[in-house]
Amino acid sequence: MRRVSILGATFDQVREHARRHVGRGSGEAAAVYRHAFATGALAPEACNLGPAAAHRWHDAFDIALPDVAHTDVAHTDVAAAGDVAKAALRFADGRSVECVRIPLGRGRESLCLSSQVGCARACAFCETARMGLVRQLTADEIVAQLVVARTQLAWRPSTVVFMGMGEPLDNVDAVADAIDVFVDRRGPALRHDAITVCTVGHVPGLDTLRARAPRRLNVALSLNAADDTLRAEIMPVAHRWPLAEVQAALQRFRRRSNQVLGIHYCLLPGINDTRADARAVAAFCEPLGRAWVHLIPYNPGTEPLTRAPREHEVTRFIAWLRENGLAVRRRITKGDDVMAACGQLRTAR
Ligand code: SF4
Repeated sequence: MRRVSILGATFDQVREHARRHVGRGSGEAAAVYRHAFATGALAPEACNLGPAAAHRWHDAFDIALPDVAHTDVAHTDVAAAGDVAKAALRFADGRSVECVRIPLGRGRESLCLSSQVGCARACAFCETARMGLVRQLTADEIVAQLVVARTQLAWRPSTVVFMGMGEPLDNVDAVADAIDVFVDRRGPALRHDAITVCTVGHVPGLDTLRARAPRRLNVALSLNAADDTLRAEIMPVAHRWPLAEVQAALQRFRRRSNQVLGIHYCLLPGINDTRADARAVAAFCEPLGRAWVHLIPYNPGTEPLTRAPREHEVTRFIAWLRENGLAVRRRITKGDDVMAACGQLRTAR
């Protein structure tokens, strides 16, 4: 009999496996499943089950949580909404990923998740790219990041964003399986629109996610240049899927009229910060319907591509985007002193 990892399975999948191999009903499965997500432990004995039934549960299921190898708390939170914190989580094979607690203000927080150990996409501004792709995460390893955050780190994320290590759509099946678990009301019970998948523009991955994921799932594109030639210089993925194909895939992905696409733009001084660049972003977004541009000032890593933008350069670029009719949010730089800011995650320590 195959042992099923509870963290990578929906309640319906657990109930069916329990029916076949434990011989127990729905109520008992619901109790064990809820307890597992609340505590991070498979503990049927804590759910008033006798020793024989508990033994069968342990034979049929397991939970493997990664170790918390390291945590860092940032001291540069200009929004004063709480501490940015980063945790390195080590799996049984010794491989690690990082996840980040991002305070959102008014007591809310988000969890930035990883979907791969390393990444194959080689974006020039990204620390993770320097690792190359080490391996994919499984669905239960993705979900385990949320469970560890809640049960061991005392973080309280109400939203999750796939913006940590890895290109999520290079691992789309595991990501879609994890999303199914995240929204399971007997498990983590996240709202469908509390989940955002950020991609470099993986066209077939967007189509797969569209077919599999909840209608209210959010997607964001890591754009960074709205010209194919420039984009290919800083994001090799542009050679594979040019912007016209990415734009068409995003249009197909829109399944409700009020859906707001996220467009992430890392501002790189001297590279993508001219008025013409801002106009090109507006032209790219124009056919996409409602979109928010999230402007992310570049956070130099260990081998900087350029310097961090100065304050007046950030505000000037935002003004150019707005004069072209775009809605813009500025991403406050949080966590750069502990390498927890956007583009700085890496586990080569
Ligand atoms: S920015 Fe994202 S897709 Fe690009 S190399 Fe880094 S982790 Fe991979």
